[in-house]
Amino acid sequence: MTIRTSIAAGTTTAIATLIANYQCGHCISTTELINDAHLLIHHDDHCPVLTGTLSATPDVLRATGGQS
Ligand SMILES: [Zn+2]
Repeated sequence: MTIRTSIAAGTTTAIATLIANYQCGHCISTTELINDAHLLIHHDDHCPVLTGTLSATPDVLRATGGQS
């Protein structure tokens, strides 16, 4: 299985919340902290979020409780 990634950027607080709570709604994603402001999200190869078919925004909002 090929893992692909997307990057989320935001405030330190938002990133800390995301890395603790983010779960892609369309694949089994994992998160990796790059630095205080950037988070790497690893998606499965077939994930529709990666291909742009679906937005990751709902997952991000769910992870942060609506604070992005
Ligand atoms: Zn995904």
